[in-house]
Amino acid sequence: MAPDPPATLGDHVEAVRAGDRSALETLEAMLARIEAIDAGESGLNAYHEVFAEEARAEAARIDRVVAAGEDPGPLAGALIAIKDNIATTTGRTTCSSRILENWRSPFEATCVTRIREAGAIVIGKTNLDEFAMGSSGEHCAWGPVRNPHDRSRVPGGSSAGSAAAVAGGLCHAALGSDTGGSIRQPAAFCGCVGLKPSYGAVSRHGLVAFGSSLDQVGPLTRTVSDAASLFAAMAGSDRFDSTSADRDWSALRDEEIASPIEGLRVGVPESFLDARNAPEVNAAVRRAISLLEDQGAVTVPVELPLTDIGLSTYYVVAPAEASSNLARFDGIRYGRRAAPRPGESLEEIYARSRAEGFGSEVKRRILIGTYVLSAGYHDAYYRRALQARRLIAEEYGRAFERCDVLLGPTAPTPAFELGGKKDPLSMYLCDVYTVNAAIAGICGISIPAGSTADARPLPLAVQLQAPAFEEARLLRAASMLEAALGMAEVASSP
Ligand code: GLN
Repeated sequence: MAPDPPATLGDHVEAVRAGDRSALETLEAMLARIEAIDAGESGLNAYHEVFAEEARAEAARIDRVVAAGEDPGPLAGALIAIKDNIATTTGRTTCSSRILENWRSPFEATCVTRIREAGAIVIGKTNLDEFAMGSSGEHCAWGPVRNPHDRSRVPGGSSAGSAAAVAGGLCHAALGSDTGGSIRQPAAFCGCVGLKPSYGAVSRHGLVAFGSSLDQVGPLTRTVSDAASLFAAMAGSDRFDSTSADRDWSALRDEEIASPIEGLRVGVPESFLDARNAPEVNAAVRRAISLLEDQGAVTVPVELPLTDIGLSTYYVVAPAEASSNLARFDGIRYGRRAAPRPGESLEEIYARSRAEGFGSEVKRRILIGTYVLSAGYHDAYYRRALQARRLIAEEYGRAFERCDVLLGPTAPTPAFELGGKKDPLSMYLCDVYTVNAAIAGICGISIPAGSTADARPLPLAVQLQAPAFEEARLLRAASMLEAALGMAEVASSP
């Protein structure tokens, strides 16, 4: 029997800070739970590596700081899992790729340093779709991740292990990365909260680059308030990332995220409630609308007709950037080198190292990216995608003149069967509601919103979006909805 699931991050930190709970004892229980639930043939496979010894030393240190009456930090003793495309100096950083199988980073990502300085304990590294390319958690070099709600289903991707670890109670919270939905969509499939910060809100230093103009690190948590605390610890400018923004986040820290926004204007675009969505997904959105209206929010109709062109824009821009970013993994400067063959040229070593090291989805992205950037096709694809990107951002700008937040689905369906999507295009369609926020650089959050009527109920979710750097507004609106959904659940239980 596995030990009981952990408390929320907020409750745990409060107990540790008050000296009512030992960080070390909590860690031991968590390690036992990981052992029982994550390993083996039908285990979740959420973790690549667990840092038991390092975490024990750190937990013991936190307990000593508390005992000495000193401040152990705002995230004291929180056990945080880190997506394995974020650099840690403990263990390896593999991106779930054979090409980085044994790569150890010489430096630590800024987001990791910041949460550690706030008292958090890094418990391990989580599985992902290779180089964060995917929407199911199946494109992993060492086996797929399973959904804790139904192990025959996918957890979503690419932050698959992070979402499964949070939902399976194998950490207090996790860090993921989102380039086109990789935090929000797995959060939706696994029934946890996933925040994609505005582009530039969190430093990308130490996040292995996929699409540099889109990538953001963000939290996956059980509650909205936990997402706010982790985000607050990470956000802010960083001299190692020139695109990180120098914003004043103190409002977020001090602000009562739990206090409702009076007269919140919620925009619900018709294009979000597409008839091709699973009916229970649209029903969850409609229910969220009426619960927010009960809280005094007003729903305003807004138009986002370009929702549909987001996918084709994203699947040009992201692979273009990926093809350039992944050029460094050549088996010489970075990555596993193919075993040498007599008389082989440097060119041949590069080619063979890459052919052996990358999985098929990553190769597909590199080929698409190289094609859309090549002379002769650049104007037809890449330049047009950049034009579409501008239009999408402008369309959001107009929508946010009329509403404070947008509400819609996170994904068109709940979690699907492992192996259920065979062709790449049907996989890419999972991202239709998440890519646009990344394209426009705004913030978005997925929160749990009930479950399906299946024998093994699957989580349903809704997504809220707000303008760039309006995370405080986004989190407050999400918190209002979370409370309303919680109350509705209590009212409907026997
Ligand atoms: N699913 C999308 C893709 O495959 C998004 C990935 C991400 O956000 N990292 O590209």
